[in-house]
Amino acid sequence: MSTLRFQALKETLNRSSVIVTETERRSVLFGENVFNQATMLQYLTKDAYNSVMDAIDHGTKIDRRIADQIASSMKDWSLAKGVTHYTHWFQPLTGATAEKHDAFFETIGNGQGIEKFGGGQLVQQEPDASSFPHGGIRNTFEARGYTAWDPTSPAFIYGTTLCIPTVFVAYTGEALDYKTPLLRALHAVDTAATAIAKYFDKNVKKVNASLGWEQEYFLIDRALVESRPDLVMTGRTLLGHSSAKGQQLDDHYFGSIPNRALAFMRDLEVECMLLGIPVKTRHNEVAPNQFELAPIYEETNLAVDHNSLLMDIMEKVASRHNLKVLLHEKPFAGVNGSGKHNNWSLSTNTGVNLLGPGKTPMSNLQFLTFFINTIKAINEHEELMRAGIASASNDHRLGANEAPPAIMSVFIGEQLTSVLKELEGVTDGKLSPKEKTDLKLNVVGKIPEILLDNTDRNRTSPFAFTGNKFEFRAVGSKANCANPMTILNTIVAKQLVEFKKEVDKLIDKKNLKKDEAIFNVLREYIKKSKNILFEGNGYGEQWEKEAKKRGLSNNKTTPEALKAKISKKTLDLFEEMGVMNKVEAEARYEIEVEEYVMRIQIEGRVLGDIARNHIIPTAIKYQNMLISNVSGLKNLYEKDFKKYAKEQMEIIEEISEHIGKINTKVNEMTAERRKANKLEVAEKKAADYCNKVKPLFDQIRYSCDKLELLVDDELWPLTKYRELLFTR
Ligand code: ADP
Ligand code: MG
Repeated sequence: MSTLRFQALKETLNRSSVIVTETERRSVLFGENVFNQATMLQYLTKDAYNSVMDAIDHGTKIDRRIADQIASSMKDWSLAKGVTHYTHWFQPLTGATAEKHDAFFETIGNGQGIEKFGGGQLVQQEPDASSFPHGGIRNTFEARGYTAWDPTSPAFIYGTTLCIPTVFVAYTGEALDYKTPLLRALHAVDTAATAIAKYFDKNVKKVNASLGWEQEYFLIDRALVESRPDLVMTGRTLLGHSSAKGQQLDDHYFGSIPNRALAFMRDLEVECMLLGIPVKTRHNEVAPNQFELAPIYEETNLAVDHNSLLMDIMEKVASRHNLKVLLHEKPFAGVNGSGKHNNWSLSTNTGVNLLGPGKTPMSNLQFLTFFINTIKAINEHEELMRAGIASASNDHRLGANEAPPAIMSVFIGEQLTSVLKELEGVTDGKLSPKEKTDLKLNVVGKIPEILLDNTDRNRTSPFAFTGNKFEFRAVGSKANCANPMTILNTIVAKQLVEFKKEVDKLIDKKNLKKDEAIFNVLREYIKKSKNILFEGNGYGEQWEKEAKKRGLSNNKTTPEALKAKISKKTLDLFEEMGVMNKVEAEARYEIEVEEYVMRIQIEGRVLGDIARNHIIPTAIKYQNMLISNVSGLKNLYEKDFKKYAKEQMEIIEEISEHIGKINTKVNEMTAERRKANKLEVAEKKAADYCNKVKPLFDQIRYSCDKLELLVDDELWPLTKYRELLFTR
């Protein structure tokens, strides 16, 4: 066995689980390291507290004098907890989180020092922005950007650093991060949904979008991961024959959690508690060594921050356990990949879930209003929704019969399907008193408060209604949820604005009563949104054909899918809803296209290197062993040697064939890469990487994987699938 592979396995087998003892109940640990409302009440003056709460609830500005007070209190709180540094914590378009730590410590002359932290440092900073992706926004020599405090997401302590969630914008005002457009989209959906909720209850002042993500991941021993250059460099295995046992026995899903994994999870959960991330469930997933963790849902901006933070701390906690977390959507071929379901709903400041059926016909009409508008929004912008989950790594998962297809559709279940059918028959214009009563009693009134049937969910649907929320299932495990959540909330906001216009028009011009007008508009929406509703098997070939007939998009690759992000329709939508201007939207598109190219480029280089420098030499070594065996036999048996050496000679030939194929295909791939690199237009380059470079990966892999089956296990340099997936 190669030294690296041998060492890795030896290390792994010697490891035992690190037992984590929890000294406090979780409810006590919860939010311990967060500058949350309770802490603020304790540390802030009344003025300062009210000012922060106003900023959270109404987006008002916090004045400089108050900011000074808040900063000073944050510092006191932090110092009491042994904190030495602070950082503006933000989410640049790299997908990761960014931070640059500054010490509170300052010198004041006389060889003395103090700890200082003022409003200025809390509110704004200037990280060296030039090395973050900007998609051409900062092409001018004014290449600076700044981070600005987001008071709606509380500051927290991680390690010995006070982290302040911030937005990241260019000096010219354009967003350079994920958070800024998300906050704008959440504002848009709040305004639009509040106006509609007021039809039903005048007291509604605010509508929050909620998000509950479910994070899937693989957990693999660190030494094993590090023995695989492809996992280290690209996050996925670029080759490796599937192991004799995979997930076919279905013995992992919901099975008992292995000890080492459980120790990691408990440690991670304690960290989450301290940071106020309300994690709730943990379980094994379908593939071996695959797991899931989910919190209780929260307001979307906070939930997004918490997911980004989680992805970061998962890695840190894993390293304490000599493990690696793989967040890539498809680390291993042949077993399921990982996703991140985004459960989404809207709820009012009065505590009503707008996507939950209620107790009365009126509250059910409110539910149907938001329910049908959401469906209509997806129908209008299905292609943009697909674009929001596009990435090189998620391409492996979508449509691979383990995750939703690349076609967007909405599943609503039998009960609601029949409710929509009834509503479709509502009279045009004024309703008779009898019809109104009938609708109230027999249609709207009949929606049960709990839609139990919906939990018998259709797992193949990318966007499913699950009783009191929608679940966007096609989001990738590695993704920043802000991207799909910005899109979803924007399209729903836009739809609700349209809806209000139409309803008000019917009330004003046709003299309809409010509920009549609502019924009338909903009826038309149901008729117009039929194409997006699909209750069948999303994995079937039949659906692809059917979807095509319906005119739904089916963009299978990222370069294709991303185009919807800069269509006129999308640019107008973002502009109109105040979420992104044209420059911001186009810059993001450019960044995503470039990222796609770079990911595939890196994969190509790594695969070329492994194939040529690890696999071919190993194959030759083994072939030489066979050759000397054959020549030994020849010496021994002379003319008769073929009787004994026939099989060996066949293997020798097979090896030569595969070596030949690998060599040719690696050369072809390099040539295609060179050609693609010469293309000036990023979009064309991405298309070539997708259609000309990437298909060669599979051909190279095929021969490498065949060699894995032929070559002596002792010589094989790469840790095998069975070792990666079944060592615990
Ligand atoms: P599952 O069977 O998919 O685990 P759950 O009902 O437990 O279904 O919910 C899964 C996720 O949905 C959890 O993260 C949960 O917090 C979240 N969720 C529940 N209600 C809402 C809601 N109103 N808005 C957003 N997310 C929600
Ligand atoms: Mg789910």
